[in-house]
Amino acid sequence: MPLDPLPKLADPRRLAELSTKLEGEVDLGACARLQEFAPENAGRAQAVFAFSRDAQGRVVMEGEARAALRLVCQRCGEPFLDTHRAEWRVVFVPSEDEERRLAGEGIDAWCQQGLLDVIGFLEEELILALPMAPHHREDCEPGHEPESVAHPFAVLAEWFERDPRET
Ligand SMILES: [Zn+2]
Repeated sequence: MPLDPLPKLADPRRLAELSTKLEGEVDLGACARLQEFAPENAGRAQAVFAFSRDAQGRVVMEGEARAALRLVCQRCGEPFLDTHRAEWRVVFVPSEDEERRLAGEGIDAWCQQGLLDVIGFLEEELILALPMAPHHREDCEPGHEPESVAHPFAVLAEWFERDPRET
């Protein structure tokens, strides 16, 4: 059964009060940033976002997403479909100091206020989970020049300039 579309925006604090989750689909064709790294993708990504509070009362957002993405094999240059999965666990914190402190402990923390850009967040997680050099799982013949596809790390610096998760 097809899932409902995910909402564009959500209030993490309110959803954590309710200990609830969002589950739904996103149209990959509408994910412009993802298309920069994995062009010509249609179809849908399925995702679940679960909201709760941890022992310190902080809002926690855990989730995972799945999508069949069309990638270009870096060995033979041919496109192929890869089942792609991203997972996250993010703790919302009130300050950037706290964000840095938790990052030092290996915890993915985020100083985020207001509404969450659900689709933007999901898109970013899918991009960060892209393989560095995608290739067929089975053997394929090295051959054609691979299509040039920018890898996330090449432009990561630019993203840090304009945090895409800000709403
Ligand atoms: Zn190949």
